[in-house]
Amino acid sequence: MQKVVLFGECMLELKQNDAATMRHAFAGDALNSAVYLKRQFSQIDVSFMSAVGDDSISQQMLDVFTQEGLDNCFVYADKTKAPGVYLVQTDEDGERSFVYWRENSAAREVMQFVDQDVIDTLGSQDLFFFSGISLAVIKPEQRAMFWDMLKQLKQAGVKIVFDPNYRPRLWRDEDEAKGEFEQAFALSDLLLPGIEDFSQLYQLESVNEILDFCQPYQIEEIVIKNGPESVFIAIDGQVQEVKIQPVAKVVDTTSAGDSFNGVYLGARMTEQTPQRAVELASAAASCVIQHPGAIAPAQAFKDFMQSRFG
Ligand code: ADP
Repeated sequence: MQKVVLFGECMLELKQNDAATMRHAFAGDALNSAVYLKRQFSQIDVSFMSAVGDDSISQQMLDVFTQEGLDNCFVYADKTKAPGVYLVQTDEDGERSFVYWRENSAAREVMQFVDQDVIDTLGSQDLFFFSGISLAVIKPEQRAMFWDMLKQLKQAGVKIVFDPNYRPRLWRDEDEAKGEFEQAFALSDLLLPGIEDFSQLYQLESVNEILDFCQPYQIEEIVIKNGPESVFIAIDGQVQEVKIQPVAKVVDTTSAGDSFNGVYLGARMTEQTPQRAVELASAAASCVIQHPGAIAPAQAFKDFMQSRFG
């Protein structure tokens, strides 16, 4: 069985329901990708790697991971911390805004739980995914441990996958983000950026500029997402553009890139071509953005993918 680990933070999402009540859900970029990967490719063993607390909300999170078919063996419990929280508010024009409480979250402590045994177990995985958000969340003083772990995984033959998912507010300044990202680029076998990641942080606006920038890192496969326009695949210096069928009525773009990533990884792990993987991944994303929130209802997602691909 193929095995993949996705490393990141899951947060409690609170959403205003009416003036008096809120609804809650659980989400986070790497987790969202894990969920969609497993939904589409049940034959792959998918683990989410993180730390949660030792409280009832953390237990609910673990239950949701299990319900989604994820393996929780790399989810650690920090008894002194609780999960991060964010609140989503939507104004009269449908514009969303977010307030976060994550500075002190359990997920920031995850590297405390990683010893040589954990690294050795991770070394038998086929693929390890992390994002710029996963990186930003690790306490700065524990990032050296993370890079040491990643180098060992790469040496053990685990395929390393990175999505920069640049969020300026998670970083002290641009130089801090660049310093971490450049270590990630150097270790990546597959890169899954959006054009925006590079335009915001490096002022690179075109696919060619991005590929020139990435050239020294010798990344085997680069898949560049460009919203509703198209996706570019660069393998061995060959660039291919795959057009996207834009969705007529977008409900909520949360998790578009995350669902794309999860399904793309699953497709590549099951030996599908990059072109076919983009078709599956962009279809998944187009379904997800027609539903509110990060995680679309499981049945609706399954029906949509089945109606497209059988
Ligand atoms: P993010 O900003 O979350 O990383 P993007 O906006 O780059 O995500 O979109 C990720 C993927 O979602 C795209 O590559 C595309 O496949 C799909 N997608 C995004 N917007 C649309 C849209 N309006 N219609 C159809 N598909 C879309």
